[in-house]
Amino acid sequence: MNKIRIAVHGGAGTILRSHMNVEKEKQYLNGLENALKTGHSILEKGGSSVDAVQAAVMSLENFPLFNAGRGAVFTHIGTHEMDASIMDGKTLEAGAVCGISNVQNPVHLARVIKEHSGHVLLCGKDAEAFAKKMNLPFQSDDYFYEESRFKQWQQIKDTDYYELDHTDTKDEKKFGTVGAVALDVQGNLAAATSTGGMTNKRYGRIGDTPIIGAGTYANNRTCAISCTGHGEYFIRAVVAYDISCLMEYKGHTLKQACDYVVKDKLVKMGGEGGLIAIDKDGNIELPFNSDGMYRGWMKNRKAEVRIYEK
Ligand code: ASP
Repeated sequence: MNKIRIAVHGGAGTILRSHMNVEKEKQYLNGLENALKTGHSILEKGGSSVDAVQAAVMSLENFPLFNAGRGAVFTHIGTHEMDASIMDGKTLEAGAVCGISNVQNPVHLARVIKEHSGHVLLCGKDAEAFAKKMNLPFQSDDYFYEESRFKQWQQIKDTDYYELDHTDTKDEKKFGTVGAVALDVQGNLAAATSTGGMTNKRYGRIGDTPIIGAGTYANNRTCAISCTGHGEYFIRAVVAYDISCLMEYKGHTLKQACDYVVKDKLVKMGGEGGLIAIDKDGNIELPFNSDGMYRGWMKNRKAEVRIYEK
């Protein structure tokens, strides 16, 4: 029997122990652990990695402390515009959505786009119309409201400044984008990512999350990757695909490829963030170049969750 593996993240950035209290910390770790267990129980029953990453990301989207689905950050005009994607490493089929509002689970829509639209990436109002046609659940604006996100937006809403959800401003605690990667019993890899993007974003700004090859990528020949961080840099560095290419064309191990891209290439460009990765042999890497990253992984039925570097 093949090894089954799953890893999740809830965003990377200026996440410092000094900004956290024991209660909050516990809530985050529980959120990560629940997502891991949700995905792992599917894998354990012989379910597919695509089903596992979708379920894990939906669990994180439903958890208000992460910047995805419920609890997504505010745009410049006080709305929530969400992006998500999912990719199947066996078929290289992918689905993605950007700039949508009120869809309860953006990653669910990405999956439906992958399977039923004949396209890869749909955006905005027309993507919402497709979600309605496919009978996906919608929620009112109130459902997506989270107080700390609102305060975070209030601090910068009258400026041209936009920021990563977890960037260190004033005394706010920061939370992030979510993602999952998995390897199933058939040896198939999959990745999924979901986000509200960056606080105070405007002009229809889209980050790396819905861009296949930048924020999300899966290929059974190499690895599955889900990223979090300053999306503009992750798009320019084509981060997720770059790691897969280094493995496929240069024979790098997962660790070598991740270390090079996250700790060298991105750092030189000024791109803050991290990612979670699983390769076809079940190796797991969770590198980041920021102070912390909400992250967790599960193998041999044991869930491990972490926030800070050490
Ligand atoms: N990568 C996301 C974006 O740029 C933000 C994040 O990871 O928190 O939209």
